Amino acid sequence: MIMLGRRLVLLGPPGSGKGTQGDLLSQRYGIPKISTGDMLRRMRDDPALGPSIRGYQDSGGLVVDEILFPVVENRLRNPDCAGGYIFDGFPRTLEQAKWLGERVDTVVSLGVPDSVLVERVRYRFTCEDCGAIYNTKLSKPKVEGKCGKEECCGELFQRPDDKPETVAERLKKYREKTEPLIDYYRKRGILKELKFGEEDVAVDVVFGRVVAAIES
Ligand code: AMP
Repeated sequence: MIMLGRRLVLLGPPGSGKGTQGDLLSQRYGIPKISTGDMLRRMRDDPALGPSIRGYQDSGGLVVDEILFPVVENRLRNPDCAGGYIFDGFPRTLEQAKWLGERVDTVVSLGVPDSVLVERVRYRFTCEDCGAIYNTKLSKPKVEGKCGKEECCGELFQRPDDKPETVAERLKKYREKTEPLIDYYRKRGILKELKFGEEDVAVDVVFGRVVAAIES
């Protein structure tokens, strides 16, 4: 398997499957997934930056670049990024894409209709210990409310920003700020655009299409 040129960006609205697909790609290629949402969530208790981060996240707004860029820059300096990485949730604006510059080889856009997104986010639960993501409608965990991954069994919780009002705001932000990146990366010739219909598609089917797009 060719490992060069594996600096990937997953582009898509909330609930489009960036996190899940990012985890699978990370396993397949042995490169880290970089979720800016997760990194910022871990900073919510930071005495200096936490209050500001919580304010943006809880209202469905975007965290400002002055906070985000140093976090991403530091993460990219980590030696585990030397063989490539998968961005999940970054870049989200044209400014961020310009800042990232040439440090991306392929962008996969996951196009999913709003009706599917809203439904998925409603049933999305995360394990507080290992971060595994569940759709409790499609794949019920073995023990209700608990993670089913081997040696984990952490509590499952719903992200506060997955409540319907906040999801609506996040979708609006996506349309306004992030969707223009599809065109931006298309013009740069590095976009692989996937479109899915109203029928919810199984994770492994989506993964097959994502891998085929990346390796084509
Ligand atoms: P996510 O887990 O990717 O859905 O991100 C959750 C929240 O974290 C977003 O709604 C934003 O408030 C914040 N966030 C994550 N990534 C970014 C980004 N690239 N730019 C600005 N805010 C971000």
